Amino acid sequence: IYDPTTQIYSSPRPPLQLPADQNTSLTDFLFRSAASHPDSVALIDAESGETMTFHQLRFHVSRMAHNLQTKLGVSKNNVVLIVAPNSIHFTVCFLAIVSIGAIATTCNPLYTVGEMSNQISDCNPKLIITVPQLVDKISDFNLPLILLNNGTSDSSSKSDKNDVFCRYSDLIGEYSEAAAAAGAEEFEFPADVKQSDTAALFYSSGTSGKSKGVVLSHGNFMATSRMVTTDQDELEEPKGVSLCFLPMYHIFGFAVSTYAQLRRGNAVVAMERFELEKMLRSIERYKVTQMFVVPPVMAGLAKAWPAISQSFDLSSLTLIFSGASPIGKDLMVDCAKNLPHVNILQGYGMTEACGVISGEDAREGNRHSGSSGILCPGVEAMIIDIETFNPLQPNQIGEIFFRGPNVMQGYFNNDEATKQTIDDEGWVHTGDIGYFDEQGQLFVVDRLKELIKCGGFQVAPAELEGLLLSHSEIVDAVVLPYPDVKAGEVPIAYVVLSDPKSLLSEANVQDFIAAQVASYKKLRRVKFVDQLPKSPTGKTLRRELIAQLRSEAEEA
Ligand code: AMP
Repeated sequence: IYDPTTQIYSSPRPPLQLPADQNTSLTDFLFRSAASHPDSVALIDAESGETMTFHQLRFHVSRMAHNLQTKLGVSKNNVVLIVAPNSIHFTVCFLAIVSIGAIATTCNPLYTVGEMSNQISDCNPKLIITVPQLVDKISDFNLPLILLNNGTSDSSSKSDKNDVFCRYSDLIGEYSEAAAAAGAEEFEFPADVKQSDTAALFYSSGTSGKSKGVVLSHGNFMATSRMVTTDQDELEEPKGVSLCFLPMYHIFGFAVSTYAQLRRGNAVVAMERFELEKMLRSIERYKVTQMFVVPPVMAGLAKAWPAISQSFDLSSLTLIFSGASPIGKDLMVDCAKNLPHVNILQGYGMTEACGVISGEDAREGNRHSGSSGILCPGVEAMIIDIETFNPLQPNQIGEIFFRGPNVMQGYFNNDEATKQTIDDEGWVHTGDIGYFDEQGQLFVVDRLKELIKCGGFQVAPAELEGLLLSHSEIVDAVVLPYPDVKAGEVPIAYVVLSDPKSLLSEANVQDFIAAQVASYKKLRRVKFVDQLPKSPTGKTLRRELIAQLRSEAEEA
C-alpha cells in the first residue's frame, strides 16, 4: 500500500504476530508451537526415509545443546561452524547451537580450503560440525569436530586418527521413548537467550566487496518464520510437507525452507542436494505439498516434463515458490501448464533480510506477471531515484530500500559496511533496482550492486578480482555478470596484463582461479584488454561494461 504523504510502501498483509516476551529464543518459539503437535512428523531424511517427530526433535536438540555446553565447552556468543550438506542432523545442530545463545555460522561444503579459511579467520569458530566425507579438508584447521552420521559411509582416513572429534550419535545417545516421555533425558533450554541476541552469521557479499558475516538475531528468524507462512495461516491450510533441497547453509534453505516450515508445524523433507529425479521421487514418496526453488530448478522441470509427466505422481503438490534470482514469466507459465493444480509463485529476498522481503500472494493464486509479489507482513519499502535520491511513486524505477523486523543487525565486525547498507532511519539499501505497480506488486528489474547470481549462488566480483590481482602477471581486472540461459548469469573477467608480451592465456587464468574457488565461481570467459574504462575517481565503470556485455549477449 503506497502512502503518497510519506512515500512509503507498506504491506497489505495482516500484521505480524511475534511473542511479546523478549526472553524467547528461536528454538523456544519453535518448540512452544510444537507443544500442540508433539507426535507429528517434523523432519524426514529423503534418502533413507528416517523420520523425527517434533518430540524427538526436541529431545535431540536439548541433548545436543546440553553436550555442547558440558562436553565441548561451548558458551554464549561462541561461534560454531556447520559445514555439511542438508540433513536432519544439520537442523538439530543449528537449533541446539542457538538455543544456548551460541552463534551458528554455515558455509558451502564445496568451498575450497582457502574459501573456508577466509570465513574461519573472520568469525573464529570454537568448533566445526561436519560430515566424515569432509574431514580431510577440514582437519587442517585444527579445530574440534563433531561428525554427523549422514546415513552414508562413515569411514574417512583422517577422522579416525583425529582424536579431537566426537560423533553426533555419541553426543545424543539412544532415544528412548519411555525416558523421553517421562522427560527424564531432556534438558531445559537456558532462559537467558533474548530475541535481540545474535543467532547466526550467514555470509553474503552485500552490495560490494567480499563476503561478510550477516548478523541475524533470534527475532529476525522468528519474524521471517511468520512472514513466510502468513498466507498459509490465512488460508487455514492444514499442515503440509515441505521439500528442502535448497542448501541449508543459505538463508533461503534454512530460514525459509526449514525453520519457518517447522515453526508452523509443517514437516520438512531434507534432501542433500537438488537432483531432478530424486526430487520427483521424493514428492511422490512423501506426498510433498510445497517446495522452495531457484529458477534453474524450474527450468529443469520444464525441460524434462514430456519425459517425466507419466512417471511420477505429483498430485500432492500445491505450491512451488521460486526465489534467489529473477525468474522469467514464460518459464512460470510453462511450468503452470504442466502443473495446473499448483500455485507457482515468486518471492524476493536477501540474506540481509533473513531471507524474505516480498512474495506473491498465495491467496490470489497464479498471476505470472513476473512480479516478486507484495511486501511480507511488517515490511516497509521505498523506491529511491538513483540520481536524485528522491522517493518515487508507483511505476517509477529506482533502488529498493526496505525495513522491518527481519533486517539484520549489521555485518559482523564491519561497521563501515553496515553504515553503507543500513541508514539512520533503518532502511536497508538493497542495491537492487525495481518498482511497485499500483496494486503494490514489486518488480525487481536489475541490480545496481556488484553481486553476480549464478544459479541462485552468490559470486562476489571483489573476491575473484582479488585473486586475479594476486597473479604476478595481472595488473588490473574486473569480474562481470554475463547473461546465461541456464544459470541466469555467469562470471567472466576483463584482465589487463602487466606485460603486453606476457604469454598468459585465457585457459591459464581460468585454471588459476578454478584451483582456488568452488566450481560455480569459475570464470567462464577471460578477455585481455589494454585498459579498463575508469571514472574520474579511478573506479572501474562496471555498469558501462555490463551494458555492453548484455547487448553483445542479445546479438549472439
Ligand atoms: P542472497 O543474499 O544470496 O539471497 O542474494 C540476494 C540477492 O538476490 C538480492 O539482493 C537480489 O539481487 C537477488 N534476488 C533474490 N530474489 C530475487 C528475485 N525474485 N528477483 C530478482 N533478484 C532476486
